[in-house]
Amino acid sequence: VKKRTPIIAGNWKMNKTANESKEFFEQLTENLSVDEVETVVCPPFTSLQMAKEKLAGSSIKLGAQNVHFEESGAYTGEVSPEMLKDLGVEYAIVGHSERRAMFGEDDGIINKKVLAVLKSGMKPILCIGESLEDRESKKTERICSVQIERGLKGLTDQQLKNIVIAYEPVWAIGTGKSATKEDANDTIGFIRKTIEQLTSKEIANQMRIQYGGSVKPENISDYMAMPEIDGALVGGASLKVTSFVDIVKF
Ligand code: PEP
Repeated sequence: VKKRTPIIAGNWKMNKTANESKEFFEQLTENLSVDEVETVVCPPFTSLQMAKEKLAGSSIKLGAQNVHFEESGAYTGEVSPEMLKDLGVEYAIVGHSERRAMFGEDDGIINKKVLAVLKSGMKPILCIGESLEDRESKKTERICSVQIERGLKGLTDQQLKNIVIAYEPVWAIGTGKSATKEDANDTIGFIRKTIEQLTSKEIANQMRIQYGGSVKPENISDYMAMPEIDGALVGGASLKVTSFVDIVKF
């Protein structure tokens, strides 16, 4: 029996209008009521209000895919932690590999976002993971430990208890190529060791670490059976109610 409550989150990326989201959430709440697995959906900003209305009274939680680190001001196009919190958002994905690769986010920016999310009372889902090139040159552990050290810099023990890590090997995201359950478990075990060295055994043992990368209904139970893996961050397969429900009900 696992000590940590599993957490499965859906990342819609840039998909679905507010109207399309309405239908999704109506069907989702009809088909899913969960207790044992903390379930989070991360739609685009423009669907958060709709999601909030449709998820009222449900145990399914709301997450954002990104957030800015400043509280307010002249940051055209950005959304603050408080704006999200006000919409009932409880989690924010920070440092997704698409944001690192396409929107210039480095570990310094990501660390500021982690701190800002925690300050607002939300919880960050901090994404880390190696590229194919890193993996082939056997740098997976080095990359993961650096991203963890830099991403979690300056956090208090209390703040560390409110963090979720998503281990997402970049080569497995949206590619249909998933990590083997053994590889994912080993790397997550290594990440937990790194966190232990930075903090304490107690914090490392409490921290939930998800696997992400081409998770689908057919492979979720393999990952969830592994001792180090506490859940999943799901992209493509979270867009359809049926497949997302099957994943959460693994
Ligand atoms: C993701 O967006 O974090 C992700 C893992 O995507 P996919 O499940 O589509 O690989």
